[in-house]
Amino acid sequence: MHVPAFGRSLRLPLTLADLRRPGFTAGSPLTLAAAGVDAGGGGELAARPPASGPAAEGHVALTFDDGPHPEGTPQVLDVLAQFHAKATFFLVGEQVTRRPELARRIMAEGHTVALHGYLHRPHPTRRAPVLADDFARGIAAIADATGVEPRLHRPPYGIYSAASLWLARERGLQPLLWSRWGRDWRKVTTPEQIAARVLGALRADDVILLHDADFYSARRSHRRTVAALPEILEALRSARLATVGFA
Ligand SMILES: [Zn+2]
Repeated sequence: MHVPAFGRSLRLPLTLADLRRPGFTAGSPLTLAAAGVDAGGGGELAARPPASGPAAEGHVALTFDDGPHPEGTPQVLDVLAQFHAKATFFLVGEQVTRRPELARRIMAEGHTVALHGYLHRPHPTRRAPVLADDFARGIAAIADATGVEPRLHRPPYGIYSAASLWLARERGLQPLLWSRWGRDWRKVTTPEQIAARVLGALRADDVILLHDADFYSARRSHRRTVAALPEILEALRSARLATVGFA
């Protein structure tokens, strides 16, 4: 599991249960004061179960980072549609401006669009004014393409700086990291290994990290993700774990 750059005492939402916890805030007041982060705000974002489908015994959130991608995103959307599954796509603004129609398709098919950044650069290496501009441009790119402002945010590499976490909250964005991952960005892995990493010890309320694009990872890595997805969705169905988007 990735530990954010602030150190172990800072808590960011990793699971659906974290988001549901009343008054959830990112980190204890002491930690936040040390990091210069406003303790206001909280986890008011509600998970939205699919409108139909068999009764589920629990929920998980499927999330895809780094798109939209001309090949990976449509293929992921096609598989999700086959399984009536919902997902959240953490989009990169520079990719949204190149193919806004794919951002619109994600929305039109009932998934959630969220912000990953305008550029895919690590926050700790960027100054606050640069980060503020990145947030503004990323939000605008998604809003221009879809007509909807994103409400969820995940930083590149899952790493906030003190400045970027403050900026995310100032822009009304709820941070969301993840509790399970497929390590699907790697150069040497297989669809079977990706599915096994996601499904091993999977439980209700997990947030699953996958990627529908190869812009910032091993070339054509999204093809292995797409190949792993049916096995993952079959297993979720068998475990009666429904996938949720966010309202
Ligand atoms: Zn990313």
